[in-house]
Parts: sequence; structure tokens; C-alpha cells
Amino acid sequence: MNVKPQPIPRHHHPLQETPASSHIVEIKTEIRDEQAVRAACTRLQLTAPEHKTVRLFNATAKGLCVQLPGWQYPVVANLQAGQLQYDNYNGHWGEQSRLNQFLQAYAVEKARIEARKSAHQEAVYICDSCGEEIVVPVDISAGAHQDYVEDCPVCCHPMTLHVEIGDDGEAHVEGEHE
Ligand SMILES: [Zn+2]
Repeated sequence: MNVKPQPIPRHHHPLQETPASSHIVEIKTEIRDEQAVRAACTRLQLTAPEHKTVRLFNATAKGLCVQLPGWQYPVVANLQAGQLQYDNYNGHWGEQSRLNQFLQAYAVEKARIEARKSAHQEAVYICDSCGEEIVVPVDISAGAHQDYVEDCPVCCHPMTLHVEIGDDGEAHVEGEHE
């Protein structure tokens, strides 16, 4: 299965309009986080990605290179542009499912990294004494249900705050008059 298709001589195939060099695929992704790329490679037991310039058949690409299993050429991520370049020749040089699996692993690892970063969140409640919108910091690690008393920073009325952390990691706060 690793037979490399040769470029088709154009004079033999006048209907072949696409030159063989143009099958590099560029896709727009949100792949911008090197740490998450590395974690995705670890998760899929791939070799660690490397920053380099590589040949993709008869063109070159530069970026963070990920070698997918069974792929003839690496997938090249341009982290600044959030762009992936690869040449799997419509699946002949590498299974598309391997790339999809990598993109999925990246998304999971990226979400994990973000979740760790946002251990401290902010939530908003409306003070029912003065009607102001109040932003409070929430420590997610303190538990999914938190109750505490805090004075409204606008009208100084003590409020009991009920904090609920949803399954999505979002904090919701309700304020109640003491
Ligand atoms: Zn208030």
C-alpha cells in the first residue's frame, strides 16, 4: 500500500488538468497551542512533533511536524496562522481517519489545558437589593456547590451567594438577600 503514485505525464493524459504538485491540502484549524499538539501526540503514542521544514512530495512546508501512523509525509502545523498543511494524495499516502483522530485528540488536550488555566473563573449575579450586576471570582476547585455570604460591593447589603458549577465547568451564581 505504500507505493508512491508517480506524477502522470501530462502529454499522455491531456484531460488531466491538475498538476501533480497541487495536491497539498491546506486546512484552517484552531491548532495554535504547541503544548496541546505535544499532548495529543503523546495520547496517540506518536513520535514527538518537531519544528522543521519538510518536503511534501514536490513542495516544502515549514512548521511543527506531526508524523501520523502510515502517512508518507508529516502533517505540518503553522501555529501562528492556525493552519495545517499535508499531502496524503486523497488518502493514497495516508488515511484521513488518522488525521481526524489527531484533530480530535488535539481538541481534547486543548480543552484540558484550558480547564486547568481557568480553575479560577468569574461569575455574575444581580444584587436584588440595588439591582447592580456584580462580578465575583469563583474558585472552581472549592466544589460544585458553594454557599457563602458576601457584602454587595455596590450597596453593601450582605448577600448569600449560591454557586453551582455545571458539568461544562461554567460557574453560575445566584445572590439572595440575607
Ligand atoms: Zn447591591
